[in-house]
Amino acid sequence: MRHIDIADRLPSRASRTALVTGGAGFLGSHLCEALLHKKYNVICLDNFFTGDRSNVEGLLHSDKFEIVRHDVTVPVQIEANEIYNLACPASPLHYQASPVETTKTSVLGAINMLDLARRLGVRILQASTSEVYGDPTEHPQRESYWGNVNPIGSRACYDEGKRCAETLFFDYHRAHGVPIKVARIFNTYGPRMHPNDGRVVSTFIVQALTGQDLTIFGDGTQTRSLCYVDDLIRGLVGLMETDGNVTGPINLGNPEEVSMAELAELVISLTGSRSHIVRRPPAADDPRQRRPDISLADEVLDWRPTVPMKVGLGRTIEYFDALLSQRAPAVFP
Ligand code: NAD
Ligand code: UDP
Repeated sequence: MRHIDIADRLPSRASRTALVTGGAGFLGSHLCEALLHKKYNVICLDNFFTGDRSNVEGLLHSDKFEIVRHDVTVPVQIEANEIYNLACPASPLHYQASPVETTKTSVLGAINMLDLARRLGVRILQASTSEVYGDPTEHPQRESYWGNVNPIGSRACYDEGKRCAETLFFDYHRAHGVPIKVARIFNTYGPRMHPNDGRVVSTFIVQALTGQDLTIFGDGTQTRSLCYVDDLIRGLVGLMETDGNVTGPINLGNPEEVSMAELAELVISLTGSRSHIVRRPPAADDPRQRRPDISLADEVLDWRPTVPMKVGLGRTIEYFDALLSQRAPAVFP
């Protein structure tokens, strides 16, 4: 197999450039910030479909940071030393509202970014997802599990788009020697989630802070494993920095599993809210349980989450509290 990883011949980090697609989104904005801290030049490429300029406002004064407004479904020529491909709506509410665009973003976006990586001869990391496991029949989920996805359901645009993107990453690697890194990210939460994105953490917190009922879909026994954003970003950067022969896929997530009913109670208690909990009909094809087996990340990246759920939720509550009272976001030093 021909490898074109030229990382060893690249300039030092201080003069290296990272391209982050989806950089104005929730995870992307934290990644841009972390890379700036590591002295990279950072190009944030985004079409602002679900992301927002305000997420990276605090970075704009840095001369090492720039934003390019662009849609990843269209080819682009940009010089960079490594590429993080995060562009894709991630909340079920967002991707189900624009299913065709979501599949296009995953598939055409992967092709365009892989072509760019191939032309430049640089590493490319794909933000894949636990959704490639669908509604899993194995628990916890290891990377060797092939998944259980309904290909024609309302979640398929996201799940199958991401599965196809993984296929493309491995085919570009096998056929063209493109150095790839594939992270399967499990539910991640934290500051800069969109307040109306319908995801469970942002929704419960906003509901609790504004005195609305917390809406549990189904009976609330379905589980998720929630990872705080700082832990996740450390894992992504760590994966990008691994040896050229480490491709993944590799699970990144917090194995601490919680039911949605427990989460609702916890948010009410942490916010001191007087809100009530109400039941709503279950969401279509909603996975019953989800927990990563992170032994591979532990072994290969020496990575494991460090932020306990109560601490992470506390920081996220603080963020939404400030946002709802219109206080200014923190500025990157
Ligand atoms: P997000 O919606 O906040 O961010 C996605 C970003 O991609 C937004 O800024 C959006 O404007 C941009 N984007 C969407 N379509 C685009 C296009 N065609 N061209 C250019 N930019 C486009 O979501 P997020 O939670 O930050 O997720 C980021 C990535 O991580 C996604 O690829 C998602 O699938 C993956 N991921 C996230 C989670 C999670 O829990 N947050 C879990 C698994 C995987
Ligand atoms: N959920 C819920 N109430 C809400 C939003 C979500 O009970 O207001 C549930 C949803 O049905 C799912 C879980 O919380 O079982 C996580 O949903 P989210 O959209 O955050 O992520 P995903 O389903 O993509 O893991």
